[in-house]
Amino acid sequence: MSANLAPNPEESLAEYVKRLRTSAAMTQEQLSAAAGLHRQSLTKIEAGKTTRLSKKAKAGLAAAFLIPTEYLDAVAGDAGAIAAPALLKLCPQCWIPGTAADPMWTDLRSRYCFACGSALVRECRNCHQPITSHQHRFCPYCGLAYKNASATPTNVRPASPPGSGIEVGSKVG
Ligand SMILES: [Zn+2]
Ligand SMILES: [Zn+2]
Repeated sequence: MSANLAPNPEESLAEYVKRLRTSAAMTQEQLSAAAGLHRQSLTKIEAGKTTRLSKKAKAGLAAAFLIPTEYLDAVAGDAGAIAAPALLKLCPQCWIPGTAADPMWTDLRSRYCFACGSALVRECRNCHQPITSHQHRFCPYCGLAYKNASATPTNVRPASPPGSGIEVGSKVG
């Protein structure tokens, strides 16, 4: 079946789960069994009383509907429940697209690459959307490669070591 399995833009978690269940012609009982959920949990989800899914519920529903868990994330994360902002950072020089970032880059305090001293980047240089996955070679929003293709003005290195009190971020309070 090629029904629309992705959540619609305005769809809530309740509406989404209900729609998929109905289009799969499953009863709540069947779905809760397939997803490994308590019937009551499913009822709450469909009634809109549960807006955030546990890891287990998410995995169960995704498996039952044959959808990626990202679909459920998309509908289960609204209204202040947005996951903590991802702090993905990477070195635009050393990072190899498609590989996981070195944990040192994503360390909360690190601002510079431990290997080459480049300023780490956490957002697209062009559209400033945050980097959401180290599997992404290009910014999904504007298509720019995250990795520096050539020398760019962002290559300016501070003369003093990081952590010396120099404010490099341009955070607006
Ligand atoms: Zn580096
Ligand atoms: Zn971009």
